[in-house]
Amino acid sequence: MSRTQDAIVVGGGLVGTAIAYGLQKRGLSTVLLDEGDVAHRASRGNFGLVWVQTKGLGAPHYQRWTRGSAAAWPGLAEDLSARTGIGTGLHQPGGLHLCLSEDELERRAATMARMQREAGNFGFEYRMLTHSEVAERMPGIGRSVVGASWTPYDGHASPLHLLRALHTAFREAGGLYLPNAGVAEGTAAPHDFSVEAGGQRHHAPRIVLAAGLGNAALAPLFGLAAPVRPERGQILVTERTRPLLPMPTTTIRQTGEGSVMIGDSKEEAGFDTQTQTPEIMRAMARRAVLSFPWIAELNIVRAWSALRVMAPDGLPIYDQAERFPGAFTANCHSGVTLAGAHAEILAPMIVAGELPAEMAPFSARRFEHVRNAA
Ligand SMILES: Cc1cc2nc3c(=O)[nH]c(=O)nc-3n(C[C@H](O)[C@H](O)[C@H](O)COP(=O)(O)OP(=O)(O)OC[C@H]3O[C@@H](n4cnc5c(N)ncnc54)[C@H](O)[C@@H]3O)c2cc1C
Repeated sequence: MSRTQDAIVVGGGLVGTAIAYGLQKRGLSTVLLDEGDVAHRASRGNFGLVWVQTKGLGAPHYQRWTRGSAAAWPGLAEDLSARTGIGTGLHQPGGLHLCLSEDELERRAATMARMQREAGNFGFEYRMLTHSEVAERMPGIGRSVVGASWTPYDGHASPLHLLRALHTAFREAGGLYLPNAGVAEGTAAPHDFSVEAGGQRHHAPRIVLAAGLGNAALAPLFGLAAPVRPERGQILVTERTRPLLPMPTTTIRQTGEGSVMIGDSKEEAGFDTQTQTPEIMRAMARRAVLSFPWIAELNIVRAWSALRVMAPDGLPIYDQAERFPGAFTANCHSGVTLAGAHAEILAPMIVAGELPAEMAPFSARRFEHVRNAA
């Protein structure tokens, strides 16, 4: 069987689904193809921050993109809730990056000052807070917290509710979602693409590769490059408790249901998500208890590891094929944060048929080995 649509999106994680929803609601008939449970899926194992203050040091275009996404998030959350009745749990009260030594605080202050300089006229609002200023905003902090950086832009959401809301909204807008539909091959010509998936041949004048780590193998089939690799992160989750954390921090947040999540480790572990590293879990738990001593009273009820989708410089890759206009890639390691941008800013660019010049710094051609291979 063969189907023709306006767009094919490969990858039904947070990135692909946000883009597919953005395309479908703007009138492009879209098929969303997803490999299924055998794939590595960052979207189902992440921490849930909608986070701005650590994004874009030395890369102000990434800071602007992230800020644009954080600003687009409330509209997206309202739209999804109105269309599907599913709340994404978005809460953007600002956020803290806690520092547990004078040295950490000094380095953090230097980083924030540099981010503000690099932001130029775009601006970057932040404050460095002392222990007592942190305590005013965050009751129950430990004596080890020397201070923190604060920005008004940060927040968090439920990543699983977001994923479900995006999928539901996509289908209700008329989109076709096909699970267990891995893409292994395809044909490419300008504005003319086809792939075999789920026992069917799909044709479209646009294709968006948003298959997370799967993009590395898919992109070359369509004249693109996606040099992404896995970076493992581990997460600990406590039993539920009463609301105790009024705002998220970079590594600790309380969910709408009351659990405290502790996260943000980074490890090179290949594609291994079966094992966890006790030393890393211990270090994460220790830092959490130094930050908020009351966490020691809570039982850990779940722990897991999952794989981030990382480019060599840690920045997103958004690209369009020079040889095959109509083919795009999208990869990032902050698919929750960037959901607003993907649905409301990137999708309209893809509808328009090309990425504008301001997106050029996100191209994979910024990597020398990609330029050399072209
Ligand atoms: C521990 C951890 C903590 C994180 N914390 C945060 C956070 O706090 N905030 C934040 O913004 N981000 C966070 N992230 C990152 C975020 O989870 C990812 O950026 C996001 O989930 C990436 O989404 P994706 O759709 O690109 O990839 P994935 O979720 O991996 O989805 C890719 C999809 O593509 C499909 N696929 C793969 N290959 C193929 C193929 N050949 N054919 C068809 N389908 C295919 C798979 O089935 C999968 O569903 C975290 C990640 C980790 C691991």
